[in-house]
Amino acid sequence: MKIKILGTRANIKLHDYEHELFTGILIDDLILIDIGEKLFLENNPKLILITHYHPDHAYFIKDHSILKLPCPIYGPEKNKFVPESRILKEAITWQNYHIIPIATLHSLKVKSQGYIIENEDKRIFFSSDIAWIKKENLKTLARLDLIITEASHIKKGGFIFRNKNNEIYGHMGIPDTIKMFRNHTDKIVFIHLGSWFLRDINSGISKIKQLEDKNLNLEIATDGKEYFV
Ligand SMILES: [Zn+2]
Ligand SMILES: [Zn+2]
Repeated sequence: MKIKILGTRANIKLHDYEHELFTGILIDDLILIDIGEKLFLENNPKLILITHYHPDHAYFIKDHSILKLPCPIYGPEKNKFVPESRILKEAITWQNYHIIPIATLHSLKVKSQGYIIENEDKRIFFSSDIAWIKKENLKTLARLDLIITEASHIKKGGFIFRNKNNEIYGHMGIPDTIKMFRNHTDKIVFIHLGSWFLRDINSGISKIKQLEDKNLNLEIATDGKEYFV
């Protein structure tokens, strides 16, 4: 599979010429996961998956435009700006791909899910923004050739909150996502780079690279970067 990272910027004001665009991942020029920018639609995807309806993952939330698409669009819930959006709760087969939604915890206001994409014997997972993934859902990840996840916060513990019903929301820290995912893969690609990274990119890269070891390769994507599995 060819995985093209279209955008690597978290929902922040800071940006850089290599980290200008919000979230979008294009798989084999066919499947688009998240539409952080309208221009991602110019790739003419044949299938769209939304991880959650936050504006940096679904640009149309910002401009309140009604989105009409020539292809199917699935997400964890329906959205009023995309009347044709469908809910994906179970795995589906589409062309040569097997797509498995993995429920995640991230926001109290919107539902969220990551996606495992399988093609032949290759498997990748995009977590999108996460405060937590329940154990029973983590099990489904099994072994993956690549995990793409968020890098909003470098500090251990990230920014996690609980409401009075003890429901969890926010963003995990990078040390926590590494700990969660390392038994499932030997390669993690970070996108959704937060202010901590964009304030000083070289130091940001080295902070992530310091967490690497011989069993785990950590990559920091730039807008437009391609990975192959
Ligand atoms: Zn979000
Ligand atoms: Zn986000």
